[in-house]
Amino acid sequence: MGAQLIDGKGLSQTIRRGVAERARALSAAGRQPGLAVILVGDDPASAVYVRNKVQACAENGLHSVLETYPASLSQAELLARVAALNADPRIHGLLVQMPLPRHIDPQAVIAAIDPRKDVDGFSVHSAGQLMSGLPGLRPATPYGCMKLIESTGTAIAGKHAVVIGRSNTVGKPMALLLLQANATVTVCHSATPDLAAHTRQADIVVAAVGRRNTLTADMVKPGAVVIDVGMNRNDLGKLCGDVDFDGVRQVAGWITPVPGGVGPMTITMLLVNTLEAAERTAG
Ligand code: NAP
Repeated sequence: MGAQLIDGKGLSQTIRRGVAERARALSAAGRQPGLAVILVGDDPASAVYVRNKVQACAENGLHSVLETYPASLSQAELLARVAALNADPRIHGLLVQMPLPRHIDPQAVIAAIDPRKDVDGFSVHSAGQLMSGLPGLRPATPYGCMKLIESTGTAIAGKHAVVIGRSNTVGKPMALLLLQANATVTVCHSATPDLAAHTRQADIVVAAVGRRNTLTADMVKPGAVVIDVGMNRNDLGKLCGDVDFDGVRQVAGWITPVPGGVGPMTITMLLVNTLEAAERTAG
């Protein structure tokens, strides 16, 4: 029997409807949630990402501000814009699109964002809150993966989860979120000698590597929940994940497709973070 598909697009639409409703309530009270996005330089992929974020705000009742600057912007000038948006009461979420030009230190910029507005959840402050089990803003992609797992109805507590990848933006926060939900968590990475030995024991596998066919059918326990974060291109130039979808779907219980799985959830959870930041400010 084949795995059931986890419909990220559908779940994303459902969550966005809820965001729009809550945004309407805040706006009616004169507190429309606002997101500011700063883009420095002319990286074409970044331009697409920020356009999608701003458009998602408009479609769901959030106010947004997009500031674009040439790659020649100095670090001091960028920090001055971050400070101004930190102080702007109409802005509840602030993100600086990565990557930044080489002369700007991304850590210094992220650290300058008011932690209450750190809707990317990339700051040391937000990471510390997550690690300490304190409430705070969670990085959007792993936050979305948790929603996808929950949508299957699978109880996470007591399950063995294997996360492949340990980046600060996906793998590590993913592992911490699963741990917080009482899973037993194994984190694998490029120096893990026998990846399959770990994944075969997993009830939940999250693949966040950036290399296609990292997870194949022989590496998956029958019935497992498989979340594919990867975004790669196959030989035909088509978007694909880290998971051999056609093979793994024969074995797994649930699986996210690429596209249509994790991807749509990322901007949605950014909206959720902005809304939650606004609700917190509104008390
Ligand atoms: P990253 O920073 O490059 O991290 C990749 C991780 O994979 C690293 O921890 C690396 O281990 C590990 N790895 C590499 N080769 C491995 C192997 N053979 N076996 C096991 N682990 C291995 O990437 P990222 O930013 O986390 O992103 C991962 C993927 O998710 C990318 O394809 C990215 O495009 C995608 N992504 C998608 C979304 C979305 O919205 N859908 C959002 C973010 C990212 P080491 O630490 O040892 O190097």
